[in-house]
Amino acid sequence: MPAAIIDGKETARKIRAGIGVRAATLRKEGIFPCLAVILAGEDPASLSYVGAKEKALAEAGMESRDIRLPQSVGEGELLSLIDQLNRDPAVHGILVQLPLPRHIREDKVIAAIDPAKDVDGFHPFSVGSLVLGQPGFLPCTPHGVLTLLRELPVPLAGAHAVVVGRSNIVGRPLANLLCRRDINATVTLCHTGTRNLEDICREADILIAAAGKPGLVSGAMVREGAVVIDVGVNRVEDPAAKKGYRLRGDVDFDSVAEKAAYITPVPGGVGPMTIAMLLQNVLIAAEPKN
Ligand code: NAD
Repeated sequence: MPAAIIDGKETARKIRAGIGVRAATLRKEGIFPCLAVILAGEDPASLSYVGAKEKALAEAGMESRDIRLPQSVGEGELLSLIDQLNRDPAVHGILVQLPLPRHIREDKVIAAIDPAKDVDGFHPFSVGSLVLGQPGFLPCTPHGVLTLLRELPVPLAGAHAVVVGRSNIVGRPLANLLCRRDINATVTLCHTGTRNLEDICREADILIAAAGKPGLVSGAMVREGAVVIDVGVNRVEDPAAKKGYRLRGDVDFDSVAEKAAYITPVPGGVGPMTIAMLLQNVLIAAEPKN
């Protein structure tokens, strides 16, 4: 039987509606949740991500402070801007759209963000809290994946989860989340140094592809009845498409859908959840702390 499709768009819509209600309550109390969004340069994919995030914020009744900087902006200038935003009580969250221009050290910039405003969850303090199982902002894409998994009628405790990709923003935090005691999956983290990727993937009850390689996971690599989550968003050339490209995931959808029990589509799977989790973090950042 072909896999059931996990509708990330619909789950994200419901979460965003709930966030909208909570944001309206905050506004009545005189708190206007606000995310500062910093974009340096004009990378087309970054421009479209930033646009989507700001649109979603507005739809949920939250504000964004849109800060566009030239590609040539200096690291010092960016750091002092972050320092200003850290001290601005009207700004609840700070998002620096990655990648930054090559002359700027990303780790330095991320570390400059006040952890209380680190709604992307990339600050070393947030990463450490995640690993230790302590409260802190969870990174949006891994949190979105986990939220989708928790909605399925499939036990996560004891399941073998295979994560393909070890980036700091997706694979590594996701692997850490899944093996936390409250989730209790058994996790294998695969990367470019992994031998026998196909064999390891075939052992997964839950297979998560986050490698940035279009079509990397084929049906032959998937066990019958597995849950397959495709984080990949890759632009592949397509002269027939209006923009000259189309989006393709890391999973070869057609062959995998024949074997999996559940599968996320691209687009419409993990992507919308990432934005919903960002809005959730901004809301949490704006809510009064006691
Ligand atoms: P990245 O390039 O930083 O990391 C990719 C990881 O995959 C690396 O750790 C590498 O070791 C591993 N990898 C690459 N090729 C591999 C192979 N052949 N076999 C095994 N491992 C391999 O990428 P990223 O930032 O983690 O993003 C991964 C994908 O997810 C990209 O397509 C990106 O566009 C997408 N993404 C989607 C969202 C979303 O919201 N849907 C968010 C972030 C990233």
